[in-house]
Amino acid sequence: NTQQKVAFITGGNRGIGLETARGLGKLGIEVVIGVRNPDKGEEAVAALRAEGIHASAIGFDAEKPESFRTIHDHFERVYGRLDILVNNAGIALADFFAPNASTVSQDVLRRTFNVNLFSVIELTQVLLPLIRKAPAGRIVNLSSILGSLGVHSAPDSPIGPAKEVAYNASKTALNAFTVHLAAELKGTAIKVNSAHPGWVKTDMGGPNAPMELADGGKTSVQLATLPADGPTGGFFHMGEALPW
Ligand code: NDP
Repeated sequence: NTQQKVAFITGGNRGIGLETARGLGKLGIEVVIGVRNPDKGEEAVAALRAEGIHASAIGFDAEKPESFRTIHDHFERVYGRLDILVNNAGIALADFFAPNASTVSQDVLRRTFNVNLFSVIELTQVLLPLIRKAPAGRIVNLSSILGSLGVHSAPDSPIGPAKEVAYNASKTALNAFTVHLAAELKGTAIKVNSAHPGWVKTDMGGPNAPMELADGGKTSVQLATLPADGPTGGFFHMGEALPW
């Protein structure tokens, strides 16, 4: 079916990624989740299919960029294009002993940037030719309010002092990628935006997060389905623009 849109969601087997797949699937969009563990992938696909969603899984490991070409070839062969890319997979390493700017280790910095930034850029570059073939391509980068320099530098920062420098800086840099790619693609049909999903009850967000998992995919779904007159190159939470 060439009319049905197809979306690729990285880290789609649990948390916000799975909710995003569910939300897009319920809109009638075919969803392909990127998973590094095939068993977890099949379990998530079964759950989505049980809800009547057209879903499948493909291997995606942010730390194995040599496999990104396989993902490209899959979408090219099966769909001939990619309508929606949700760069959702991300990590926040539990660097509790030395998370600060003055103490963070090179190892934590490099691992975090590798997954949250470098692999996002590389995957996007590999898939971009297929997104250009879609009538209305959408790219959503899962950022975080913790990456907002505007929020951190405000005199009374609503989220408290900046702590986890590796995670936060990786999301700040991801926002920069959003801005640059959106500017480059101005004049095309493609929109690129950063999402802050909210502080969500997931494995990463923890049990004290105020937002229920069922709401955690809403911002991503909204940005993945923006109309032609919608924004590009922005940073949003539930339809509200956030400071960079
Ligand atoms: P979770 O930790 O619950 O899930 C992370 C997902 O990413 C899993 O599917 C995981 O796969 C996948 N993943 C992690 N590392 C890799 C890797 N190296 N290669 C491939 N897949 C990987 O996170 P959330 O759902 O909470 O977060 C999703 C996104 O939203 C992240 O980018 C996060 O930074 C962002 N975010 C989350 C917030 C929150 O409150 N939860 C707040 C702000 C932003 P696997 O199951 O195999 O581990």
